[in-house]
Amino acid sequence: MNNADKMLMRIRNEPKLMEKYHKRLFTNSRLDEETGCWNTLYGANVSEPQMGVEGIMIRCPRLSYTIMKGVIPEGLSILHICDNPRCVNPEHIFPGTTQDNMSDKVNKNRQRKGGQIATCKLTEADALKIKKGLAKGLTGVYLAKLFSVSPRLIGYIKQGKIWAHVEIKNTEANYGE
Ligand SMILES: [Zn+2]
Repeated sequence: MNNADKMLMRIRNEPKLMEKYHKRLFTNSRLDEETGCWNTLYGANVSEPQMGVEGIMIRCPRLSYTIMKGVIPEGLSILHICDNPRCVNPEHIFPGTTQDNMSDKVNKNRQRKGGQIATCKLTEADALKIKKGLAKGLTGVYLAKLFSVSPRLIGYIKQGKIWAHVEIKNTEANYGE
């Protein structure tokens, strides 16, 4: 375990530290109302913003996850579903392997944001992404927001009422249409 991970573990075990850095992290973050991202003000000119925690540099998204959700499983990275490395919104980050490309796929979907989306506008690729998100444990409400559809629609997908023919294991070939 490296020093940064040791410090994160210490934060989990010391409520006073947790409170201190919770305050410091989130008072130095700004909401992007369009995306829901909480952008950290730390490390404005770097791709992976960090902040000093008791003398140790910690990546802001890792600090956010540790404070808000819990210990990051050993060896896992913190990935962004919003594909925004400055974001510390705990609902936008999740632990995963670096091979995980969910954030990339969702990001491609986000580019077609802006009013043209209705429940009928989901593509097969979207349905697949939603199924993958559900399989990863993301909530229906969250996915509904992300894809600008109703939670009920996500529920239908989950129950196999619609898009039942889209299956995670064999639809990669259909991705991107
Ligand atoms: Zn975000």
